[in-house]
Amino acid sequence: MVSVSLLTDAEQIRFTLTGEFRTPKGRIVPPGRYRATPHPAGIELRDAQDRLVGIAATFSLSPMNPAMAVFTLEDVPIGKGFHWEQKATQSYAGTLTIRASPSISEASGRLTVINEIPAETYLKSVISSEMSARAPVEFLKAHAVISRSWLLANLARRANEGESPPPPSEREAPETPEPEIRRWTNRTTHREFDVCADDHCQRYYGLSPVTSDAAMAAVAETHGQVLTFHGHVCDARFSKCCGGATEDYRSAWEDRDVPYLRGGRFDGVEWPANFPHPLTIEAHAVTWIMGFPPAYCHMTNSRELDDLLPEIDRPTRDFFRWERTLEQEELQALVKGRLGLDLGAIRRLEPLERGASSRLVRLRLVGERRSVVVGKELEIRRVLSWTCLYSSAFVVFPEDVRWGIPRRFRLRGAGWGHGVGLCQIGAAIMAQQGRTYREILAHYYAPAEIALAYT
Ligand SMILES: [Zn+2]
Ligand SMILES: [Zn+2]
Repeated sequence: MVSVSLLTDAEQIRFTLTGEFRTPKGRIVPPGRYRATPHPAGIELRDAQDRLVGIAATFSLSPMNPAMAVFTLEDVPIGKGFHWEQKATQSYAGTLTIRASPSISEASGRLTVINEIPAETYLKSVISSEMSARAPVEFLKAHAVISRSWLLANLARRANEGESPPPPSEREAPETPEPEIRRWTNRTTHREFDVCADDHCQRYYGLSPVTSDAAMAAVAETHGQVLTFHGHVCDARFSKCCGGATEDYRSAWEDRDVPYLRGGRFDGVEWPANFPHPLTIEAHAVTWIMGFPPAYCHMTNSRELDDLLPEIDRPTRDFFRWERTLEQEELQALVKGRLGLDLGAIRRLEPLERGASSRLVRLRLVGERRSVVVGKELEIRRVLSWTCLYSSAFVVFPEDVRWGIPRRFRLRGAGWGHGVGLCQIGAAIMAQQGRTYREILAHYYAPAEIALAYT
């Protein structure tokens, strides 16, 4: 069983039960629409006619007939902090639990919704939420194996860490002349549940995306299969589009060598001769980002992409090579808002260090008053965009420079996401070209191997 948080810190929860549910004490809750709100004793539950159903510290509702009964939840956040952020109404199988949020002070009273379901049911939704259920079956099988591996590795790590706090991100005092801010999100920060349902962990949009027999078969045919390395289940990371080459684990998270997540693999048949590498060298990175290497994920055919991408990702088309313009005022506001620093007018954005996929790991922002060094890849993407840049693999072109101050910065970039591990677009194209899920997994995760975690 997996516990997944669907909603956190909500002022109220609106949901509909299709079929009968029951509480742990055996009380039947009939089908219908309900609203839960915070109460001094925990949670107050009312039905569609606003009649009081009950007051309890926690509400845990399990379907009487798990094969038939589902619950539908309104206002579920999707893509928090990213350019595809939105709210949706989603349906789920399994148990619905509503709790008071522990993270917020009790006076403010917010609620958290947790869904408990069998791991294999969770995986059917994850692979169809991360990509389309209409994607090729060998790709869906590869995704089922890595999503299962990631889940089991995450659960094991959570059990080992127990109550100890997550390893800190580093941040130097902002008082120093040039502070260096190095941050990354740690996925083991959840305490009250196993995983969240959004991009922070793995996307889990409930029952609605699971529309194909292929998605069901992909999970069933790989039942219990995981990637392993030296006897341990792999922490199999993945992202939407590597941009042509994969990234090192340490460029996105803590400084650690993970052999099956080593970057610098060309996402294609053979490294093209006209693109020198390694991409950690600035001149090579510029040629790479400004060019169009023949990678699997270099995919622009709209109709084919519609079959590969889930609905919320379909509007994003320019992910292999992209361009963004940042106005001077906007950039200053971002630095203030994101880092709490006033650099004055920004003179330069200087690449200091790149990873194996050409993604920036350290970037210096030179202002009139002071400068700051920012890392790692996600923090750089956050500091340069309110909705998070597609990736940190970019080249900067200052424009309309007066007295050393550019009016704007044009960014030319490559890829979507951190680029570590499997490239979802590239892997889907490999499957389309007839590769098996074993070949796909070997391409992205060698020297890891496939093994059976449970039967
Ligand atoms: Zn999470
Ligand atoms: Zn790729």
